[in-house]
Amino acid sequence: MNQYRNNAFKLYKRLLKNTRVYRGVFALAIIGMIIHAITDTSFAAIIKPLLDGSFINKDPDFISLMPLLIILIFVFRGVGSFMSNYGMAYVGRSIIRDIRREMFNKILKRSSSSYDSSITGKLVSKITFDAEQVAEAATKAVTTIIKDGLTIIGLLSLMFYYSFTLSIGLILIAPLIGIFLKIMSVKFRSISRDIQKSMGEITNVVEESIIGHRIIKIFGGKSQETKNFEYANSNNRERNLRLIFIQSISIPMMQLVVAIFLAIIIFFVTSNNYLEEISIGTFMSYLTAMIMMFAPIKRLSEVNVTLQRGIAASESIYDLIDSESEDFSSPHDEPITGKISVAFKNVCFKYPTSEKNILNNISFFINPGETVALVGRSGSGKTTILDLIPRLYDPDSGYITFNDKKIIDSNLNSIRGCISYVGQDFTLFNDTIYNNIAYGELSSSSHSEVEHAAEKANAKQFITALPNGFDTIVGQNGILLSGGQRQRLALARAILKNSSILLLDEATSALDTESENIIQESIQKLSKNKTTLIIAHRLSTIISSDRIIVIENGTIREEGNHEELLSKKSTYFSLYNSQFKS
Ligand code: ATP
Ligand code: MG
Repeated sequence: MNQYRNNAFKLYKRLLKNTRVYRGVFALAIIGMIIHAITDTSFAAIIKPLLDGSFINKDPDFISLMPLLIILIFVFRGVGSFMSNYGMAYVGRSIIRDIRREMFNKILKRSSSSYDSSITGKLVSKITFDAEQVAEAATKAVTTIIKDGLTIIGLLSLMFYYSFTLSIGLILIAPLIGIFLKIMSVKFRSISRDIQKSMGEITNVVEESIIGHRIIKIFGGKSQETKNFEYANSNNRERNLRLIFIQSISIPMMQLVVAIFLAIIIFFVTSNNYLEEISIGTFMSYLTAMIMMFAPIKRLSEVNVTLQRGIAASESIYDLIDSESEDFSSPHDEPITGKISVAFKNVCFKYPTSEKNILNNISFFINPGETVALVGRSGSGKTTILDLIPRLYDPDSGYITFNDKKIIDSNLNSIRGCISYVGQDFTLFNDTIYNNIAYGELSSSSHSEVEHAAEKANAKQFITALPNGFDTIVGQNGILLSGGQRQRLALARAILKNSSILLLDEATSALDTESENIIQESIQKLSKNKTTLIIAHRLSTIISSDRIIVIENGTIREEGNHEELLSKKSTYFSLYNSQFKS
């Protein structure tokens, strides 16, 4: 699965590296922890002088000093506690932000093929849920280990100082606790891993149900989705309960071990007249220290759960962070601005998941400024051909050139900089119409340029008719607009980019004749003087193109213009009769 599965230490070290930036605050927090541990030990320590000095010997100096000392101890304790809590929270929240940023950047930079194999909900849950758990491990665990660890050391030293004999016994039970913790930690981590996975499943079902609400309603998918959610939801509950079950059993068991020891000590002290050897103050101090050790021991035993949870979460996070990203390393040259010729030379391609080649020996040439239509049956590989041009995927063999220069040698930014793209599904963002047109690097366009682009895409009329005009929010993926309106916004975005190469994947969805004419008109305006490759599903688009390439099963069957191809009475002819004629 991954390199870290059996190496928790390496993983934790990498996790702690994230705290390095905040080492100033981190150091302050640790100083706070030290203060806290010292004050706790001091509190147990002053019980002896308090009892022996004030109550038994009635020493007047002690009597006046004691109340002051107690207040002083708690003032310091408070300061230490604040420093450690706030300091560690500061570091923790900062780490969450950093890890999330790193993951989000990775998501933006991932290769297209890695999207094919990942499930959105799981990615979302990595960013929301797993990141929190990682930070908790990196900070809460450190707090407990240092603060409670130091407190225990302090109290233990005090106990040894006050009574060596009694303390020897304590040392004997320590390995017992250690073995117990070791057995538990393996269990905790594997359950935590399951919990994180089930969170991803929940997010995924919810997301699909929201996106697919229409289909769910119309095709009666409610009970199926309810079942899916119920499964993921219950699964999550069961796994969480299992974790808490083990946790709930292990903590009292460990406390029982300590309590038995406490009982033995009290038994020993009372039955052997040991109290005559040590003062009552010493014994009470000893007992206080021992009782004060309970809480830190409890937290230290729980820290394992947090730690294992964080380690499991960081495995999941580093899986994403270490995943393959697109290669921007080749030197960045300026996007080509003039006219560009595009050529495919013996291109073969298969998706990582597909069994046989999707494209076979594709070769063609598009002259600068020419408009070429790609036609072919559904699944023949048209969209795949288009995706290779902006290097969303790279060919397995053969190559693609712009102006006779292989694009594989160019920087991705320069390649994509000279391409406009309107996909089969016109992606819109939940933002205003204006920002959807002037998206990304286009956001520096002037207002009049944006309006002009909308006008050329025949979109301005419907936009200005909306109550908020260009400031209308379009909803997630443009849900508040009609299919034709969305398409025109996508065209306006492509027009605004005004790039040398234009890639159009015509929507398969039918539009009424009037809208089709409007869109046809905007496509023609858009493709003028641009090297255009258009996947055509409409006869009007095909006829207005300069040349047609016919694809069948990932190979080029025929090439030519409409009349030439018809007269051949071959693939295009039958395609025309079955798809375009009506
Ligand atoms: P349509 O006209 O329906 O849009 P198309 O010609 O555009 O079809 P492509 O999308 O290029 O067809 O798909 C060609 C083949 O590649 C199909 O058999 C499809 O199953 C497969 N395919 C497409 N996308 C992927 C992917 N991301 N991973 C694996 N296989 C894919
Ligand atoms: Mg397609």
